[in-house]
Parts: sequence; C-alpha cells; structure tokens
Amino acid sequence: MQNLFINGKWTEASSGETFNSYNPANGEVIGSVQMGGIEDTEKAIRSARDAFHDWTTTNITYRAELLRQYLYRLRKERNALSELVTREVGKTLEESDGEIEDALNLVDYLVGEGKRYFGYVAPSTRKNRLAYTQRCAYGVAGLLTPWNFPGSILFWKMAPALLCGNTVVVKPSSEAPLTAGALVSYGVDIFPKGVLNFIPGKGSTVGDHIVGHDAVDVISFTGSTSIGRKIRNSAGIKEVSLELGGKNPALIMPSANVQSAVKDTVNGAFGVAGQRCTATSRVIVHEDIFDDFKTALVEDSKALKVGSGLDSGTDMGPLINQKQVDIVHGYVKNAVKDGARILCGGKSLPEIGPNFYAPTVLDNLRTDMQIAQEEVFGPVLCLFKCSCLDEAIEIANDVPYGLSSSIYTSDLQEAFRGTNELASGIVVVNNPPGAVEAQLPFGGVKESGIGREGGIEGIDEFSRTKTVYIDY
Ligand code: NAD
Repeated sequence: MQNLFINGKWTEASSGETFNSYNPANGEVIGSVQMGGIEDTEKAIRSARDAFHDWTTTNITYRAELLRQYLYRLRKERNALSELVTREVGKTLEESDGEIEDALNLVDYLVGEGKRYFGYVAPSTRKNRLAYTQRCAYGVAGLLTPWNFPGSILFWKMAPALLCGNTVVVKPSSEAPLTAGALVSYGVDIFPKGVLNFIPGKGSTVGDHIVGHDAVDVISFTGSTSIGRKIRNSAGIKEVSLELGGKNPALIMPSANVQSAVKDTVNGAFGVAGQRCTATSRVIVHEDIFDDFKTALVEDSKALKVGSGLDSGTDMGPLINQKQVDIVHGYVKNAVKDGARILCGGKSLPEIGPNFYAPTVLDNLRTDMQIAQEEVFGPVLCLFKCSCLDEAIEIANDVPYGLSSSIYTSDLQEAFRGTNELASGIVVVNNPPGAVEAQLPFGGVKESGIGREGGIEGIDEFSRTKTVYIDY
C-alpha cells in the first residue's frame, strides 16, 4: 500500500479511501494507493510551512550534501526503479532506464550548483554603501507532476526546490503514484520533518487545493495545456511555472542524411508510444526527397515491435489507459473524415493487450486540420510536404504550441535559419526535437508553457532575488 507522507510520517488518507495503480500493458493491479483529500493536503501544507524557517536557514551546501546522499541511494536502486516505471506506465525498459538516468544526472548537476548559488555586487550611487543581491527560497512549493515521466519530472521539480531551501508538497499523477512514492521513499529520512510531503490524490481536489492555497508560495506544474491554463487562473499572485503540451515538428531538407532522419523520426514519433511532450508529431519533408522519405518512414514504422515494455525486443509499449486509446483513435477518425490518408496503423491492437495502438502515419493533411493543430499524445505522426524552407518554417510555426522543433540539413544557412526562426523553446539540428540535458534549460513558448526546468534557469524557478543595502 502506498501511503501519504506528511510531517515526517507515512500515513493513511483521512477519508479512508484508496485507489489502484494498473499496469497498462495487461490491466493488472500493481498496487493500491491512499487517496489523499483536502484535509490531508491542508496538513501537508501546514507541515511544510512550519518546517520552512529552519530548513531555509540551513546552508545551501548542507542541502546539496543531503541531495548527494539521496542521489547515492537512488543510484543503487536504478534497475528496480526502471522496472517499476515500465510496469506502471508501460514504456520499454530501455526508455525507463533512460528516464531514471536523466533524473540522476539532474540531481548530480544540482549537487554541484549548490556551490554556485550566486548573487552579485553592484556599484552604489551613494558613498559608503555596499549593495548586493542574494538568492532566497520562495517558501512552500507545490509540485504537480504528470504520469508520462514519473521519475525524471519529479526530480526536475523537487531537487531544485529543496536545494534552494523551499519545503515541498508533491502531488503525483494518479496514473503513476507508485513510482513517485518509491522515489520519494528514498529521501524521506534524509530531510528534516515537514520538508518533504507527498500527497497522491485527485487533481481536482489535492491539486486544486495546493494551487489555490495562500500558504503555498510557488507552483511548478507539468501536464496538459488545458489544466495548465486552469492553474494559471486559480494560482492568484503566486509564482507559477507551467511545462505543457507540444506539437513538435521535424523539418527534413534535401541535404539531410535521409536514412538517419527516417530512423530518428520513427524514434521521435513512437518512443514512449508518442506520449511525450516533445514527441515528433509533425514531419515536414522537402518535395525533392519526399517519396523516398515516405516509403522508408512507413516501412520502418510498420516494422516496430509493439508489446509489453518488460519484454526484450519491444520497440513500443502501450498507451497509458483505454481512455487515451479512445482519444487517439478519435483524432485519427476525425482526420480521416477531414480527408487524411492512413499510411500505416490507425487502429488499436487488442490482440496484444488492452491499451495498445499501432504506430500511425497520416498524410494528405492540411495545416488547419484538428490533427495538425492539437496534441494527440499517442503514436500518430502527421506527414507534410513542403517546397522550400520558408514553407517548412511556416507550417512548423502554424500551431498554438512551441515546445521543441528540429531541422535536418547539412546546409549551414538552413540550420541557422531553423534555429533562429522556429518558434519553440528548444531547437535541435540533425536530431529529433526531444533533447534534454540537465545543465540546460528546458521549456516552451506559446501554449507550451512558461518557465524553464534544468540549468541555472531551473534554479531560478525556485528562488528569488533579495536586494541588500549596507551603509557603513
Ligand atoms: P494532466 O494535465 O492531466 O495532469 C497533470 C497533473 O495535474 C496530474 O498530477 C493531475 O492529477 C494534476 N491535475 C489535474 N487537474 C488538476 C487541477 N484542476 N488542479 C491541479 N492539478 C490538477 O497531464 P497528464 O495526462 O498527466 O500528462 C500529459 C500532459 O503533460 C501532456 O499534455 C504532455 O505534453 C504534458 N507534459 C509536458 C511536459 C513538459 O515538460 N512540457 C513533460 C511531460 C508531459
């Protein structure tokens, strides 16, 4: 049973309610979880508030040292944690291991950043005055995470929040509470009582209560744009960062290495069964290479082995639940009604298990179609043809999202036009859009969100500047 963690103790939900977490590959229950409610959330926020003063007045290098201890424990559990991610959210073991590695790299990076928590000294206009800035924590941080990267996204929030001296209340996704609970469990006795609190439960109760609470000072949310918009509206004057959805394009120009662009596009579109904010969801291919690219793309997509993420040789796992399968299939059906053509896939695969959907490539699309504009969050790739780079960039930018983009070319002019003109928070040249490194900021523009995780910018999300004047 996964319990709540409040004020230094594992505890049951005050309502007595529980819910289950399921393996999406076979529908089996993998564990039960206490269903936190408003009363529990209130206690967690109060305990975080009470613990804040003593925690934030510790030295940041001490807090970094505690993170290091946490990191050492997590490293030892890497394989078990990867397996749990696969069992709970369905991605392949290789993908889960990559996710845990990302989480560990981030914590490792932040341990070092603890020694570089710089302010600056500025010249004063007054005589005999020293003027400088220093960084300080916000207070209580409410951390709301999605299910698709239950390990890494938890740490992208929790590690910098704790490092900067905030106390935290973590609300994991109800689709992946066991992974989050396991990860939190390795840290609970490292941090003082009340510093780290964990409340699984519904977004509409636990999440909403955290977001609207006056004693919570900063909200860090990763999830869908629709919930992100709600959070922005109900957070009041708290600091809010939002990491939201994407509709990420890959542009393939004639000078690209077509073979590796095809391979990358298949990985980018169908990795984690397309359930990634940075999934390649649109590929825009120059007409000179379009036919060759399309043939190879469809062939490679059809060749993917779909199955349980625990089985060796599986290329693509299931979707998270039946609701998501229905959503994805609804998008495909609407697209076909609007004139799209299915080049492969376009159907669920009940013979493999309950939540499997075939890797799907569509063409004959217009940019104003629903499928070309909205995040599908499943293994569906939209294929477009363009006649020049101007047109490719126009198609790429013609969506409400702007998380990540990529361009494949060996022409320097084209590469720099791509990096300068693609409207997204991240641009990648000659690789799929989904690049993430701990020491660099990650985040989007437009409806893909506000704020950044990772890098120095990720520390800025959890600390503010105080200005100090000392007259002598
Ligand atoms: P979701 O928006 O359904 O849920 C995210 C979290 O918000 C969950 O913990 C949920 O319980 C909580 N929540 C739901 N309603 C809430 C409310 N009213 N108030 C407060 N919290 C609430 O998203 P999901 O299905 O878990 O994740 C998929 C989405 O996340 C996709 O859109 C994907 O693109 C996005 N995502 C973005 C990034 C990024 O870094 N930009 C990374 C991963 C996933």
